[in-house]
Amino acid sequence: MEITSGSASTAESCEIVAGGPCGYVIFGASGDLSQRKLIPAVFSLVKSKRVPDSFFVVGFARSPMDDELFRIKVMASIRQVYGDIREPEIEDFARRCSYVAGSYDQDDGYLQLKSKLDELGSRLGTGGNLVFHIATPPILYAAIVSFLGENGLVQRGQNRAPFQRVIVEKPFGRDLESAHQLNKSMLEYLTDEQIYRIDHYLGKETVQNILMFRFANQLFEPAWNREYIDHVQITVAEKLGVGNRAGYFEQAGLLRDMFQNHMLQLASLVGMEPPFDLSADNVRDEKVKFMNAIRPFAMDTLDRQLVRGQYGSGKNDIQALKAYREEEGVFTASCTETYFALKLSVDNPRWKDVPFYLQAGKRLQKKLTRIAVVFKKVPHSMFSHNWQGPAPSPNSLIFDLQPQQGTSLFFQAKVPGSKMCLAPLKMELDYRQTFGAKMDEDYSTLILDCMLGDQTLYWRKDGVETSWKLLSPVLRQWESGSQKDNERQLERYRAGGWGPEAGTRFIEEDGRKWIIG
Ligand code: NDP
Repeated sequence: MEITSGSASTAESCEIVAGGPCGYVIFGASGDLSQRKLIPAVFSLVKSKRVPDSFFVVGFARSPMDDELFRIKVMASIRQVYGDIREPEIEDFARRCSYVAGSYDQDDGYLQLKSKLDELGSRLGTGGNLVFHIATPPILYAAIVSFLGENGLVQRGQNRAPFQRVIVEKPFGRDLESAHQLNKSMLEYLTDEQIYRIDHYLGKETVQNILMFRFANQLFEPAWNREYIDHVQITVAEKLGVGNRAGYFEQAGLLRDMFQNHMLQLASLVGMEPPFDLSADNVRDEKVKFMNAIRPFAMDTLDRQLVRGQYGSGKNDIQALKAYREEEGVFTASCTETYFALKLSVDNPRWKDVPFYLQAGKRLQKKLTRIAVVFKKVPHSMFSHNWQGPAPSPNSLIFDLQPQQGTSLFFQAKVPGSKMCLAPLKMELDYRQTFGAKMDEDYSTLILDCMLGDQTLYWRKDGVETSWKLLSPVLRQWESGSQKDNERQLERYRAGGWGPEAGTRFIEEDGRKWIIG
């Protein structure tokens, strides 16, 4: 499909040249997220000059390191992600980075950090603007914010000139109670405008594109309702298993890890009403209204709305794959779910009787994050005799988020030839091919937004709590169930396949099927 992507001047005006002067501090800087995602994301901002020269990075963690050693780690993680970058560019960036070793729950480290930030801030002229990114295990979030506050690194309400903002990683809480408590503790030291609760999915171009697609094109919005849409489905499939994150995952499970944040956000973008404008609060108001319209799970018939599964052993193209219970760090009788499928009903005029099906799984056949909006069949088909092969499928609009980012529309067309034959046709927009170099990594977008004070793509306090309110009764029921109950409800599936039979049956019993091919 050919795309006209606008005039050069329009394209240029779509680029934010730079955030303001600022220092960026990572807590948990020795960790996986910092090395794999955050450092490369900030490097990308520096490289594309979207942060000015008056910008620096400080890593904070317990691991003993000096600036030199931290810079070596920084350079290695950039090389890993951007293999083709010239060494001097990497070295220039590394010189902007320094490190403070300290405990997360003792004043000493924070005082050292403060003097480092004061020194760098006045040397580089950042005007005291600071972003703190908390990328540690969640148990430490509240303590870090309170130590920041008590040691004068953040001050409640200080959101402009200079700004002090805090990005908090997911998961934000593990149920309604803990999320509420975490909000409460953080709000002692910060206002909600200073808190950036991240969901990195929202930094993806295609996720943001859902809003543009719906509200900037007159073509789709009039049909975006129960009159024309049969159902919506969202699949988040991972090829990998639990890897080295069993410690975290055993406590969390996939429903907590995926549904409460990423998948509900995606469902909200598809389902929300049009906001008055794209301001952070108006967008987030509409998302929260959508989440509030989701019917609570009926706890006495939960097994009809929700399938939970766990991978057994299996194989992929290359190797034999272990069962979840055989993975390192996993309890041998673990009932932690590595797959779920569920159905949401939305009680509002737009979506009444239009189910939203969601499924997610680890160790599935391929990596895929996809939203499919499936339209109703034509009411009367005059072409029923002209169809070749299986029955015609209804129109569907697909947003692919991973591994490719793109949008496709499926419709029926005539097969060339003298007979009247129909076949499905796919019209496809591949985001990377079309916009190529302009594609940003999700974390770069989000970190820059925080520097610019734009919270549109971040969770607000009420959004987080609404999502936990929906999920917490399910988690409570599962967690209070006996081992025998949990074993009975857990559907086993083969690693490297497409999840349990029950997950396929779940949607097929409603006369629909997962669009994963
Ligand atoms: P890590 O387990 O790598 O932890 C980050 C750092 O925190 C470690 O390097 C360690 O640094 C410190 N740390 C780890 N365990 C403890 C502990 N028990 N007590 C005190 N300090 C500890 O986490 P990740 O980097 O993987 O993730 C960080 C956060 O980001 C988590 O909340 C995670 O949920 C979230 N996240 C991670 C993603 C990922 O892909 N990794 C994706 C999305 C979110 P040191 O010992 O040097 O202090």
